Amino acid sequence: MKLNQLGEFGLIDRIRQQAGSGSGVVRGIGDDAAVLEVGAGEQLLTSTDLLIESCHFDFAWTRPEDLGHKAIAVNLSDIAAMGGTPRYLYLGLACPGDTEVDRIEAFLAGALRQTEAHGATLVGGDTCCSPGPWVIAVTVEGVVPRGEAVGRDGARPGDVVLVSGTLGDSALAFTMLRKGQRPSAFLAGRHHRPEARVELGRALASSGRVTAMIDVSDGLAADLGHILRASGTAGLVDLSSLPASGDFRQCLQENPGAADLPLNGGEDYELLFTAADSDVPLLRKLAARVGLPVTVIGEIRPGAPHLLLRDGHGRETPCELRGFDHFANSAAPADKV
Ligand code: ADP
Ligand code: MG
Repeated sequence: MKLNQLGEFGLIDRIRQQAGSGSGVVRGIGDDAAVLEVGAGEQLLTSTDLLIESCHFDFAWTRPEDLGHKAIAVNLSDIAAMGGTPRYLYLGLACPGDTEVDRIEAFLAGALRQTEAHGATLVGGDTCCSPGPWVIAVTVEGVVPRGEAVGRDGARPGDVVLVSGTLGDSALAFTMLRKGQRPSAFLAGRHHRPEARVELGRALASSGRVTAMIDVSDGLAADLGHILRASGTAGLVDLSSLPASGDFRQCLQENPGAADLPLNGGEDYELLFTAADSDVPLLRKLAARVGLPVTVIGEIRPGAPHLLLRDGHGRETPCELRGFDHFANSAAPADKV
């Protein structure tokens, strides 16, 4: 069946049935607005992300289930980066009328599985017919105990820079997929089904020891740049300390051009944060409790916002502070989130 046979309200009805209800949901899908509980002593976190076909994803190498997972996970990652707990999700969806309903169902299954995995609930959205590409707009609301949210602007000279997990896996998988190569299951999983570091973000924020935090979506250099600019400090990254997975290191031998990806690849969805050097053992212990390694990769220095890279010989060279800019890169579609 095609979407134009099922119709907008037929689709919304299916979404409503599958989304179910969750804790704190007084009214979910089906009214003019959702009615939701937030606890006393909590603050509300809200974030939204757009995904556009041929710009952020391509069905040539993306399964609809994985797309659903990723559309939710990248939003949960923003809540994780503030130290919050995701609660409520909204799904704006525009697809061409001749889309197979099975494809939408698969997308929804991936999205709802990821939503439920984090104890969140889909409570609303909007549905439209697109004249061309799929457009997916996900909004997430989360909660954080009052005063515990961690921003990008608190890094202080003398702090160290830490990152969770490994870097470059997703970008390497993407590079291989575009070249028609087959990445390992691990690398493909890191690209198609990123895991938002929600538990880690919460543990770090509740420790009160993290001075600034962001999730790595544009690439380590770009996202550290956001911390440096917001905090008004300089920073240094020690390239030889960047954490890479075994699969990444193995593929690097065949794809030497990929050496740059841990620094500039993006879509890692790891947490990048700063803290006093003396707090590192405690933070490592908290991370180990949620099963993730964290690695010290650099330091915050006094000075106007700029980033230095230290190579294996101890040489320090400046790195241009730029994030991924969708408009500056608009000539090259299907490239980056
Ligand atoms: P309105 O005309 O008030 O915008 P809609 O008919 O668009 O209402 O939506 C009806 C209900 O279905 C609302 O609760 C809305 O949040 C929900 N909804 C619509 N599209 C989606 C979607 N893609 N995912 C989740 N909920 C949806
Ligand atoms: Mg509507």
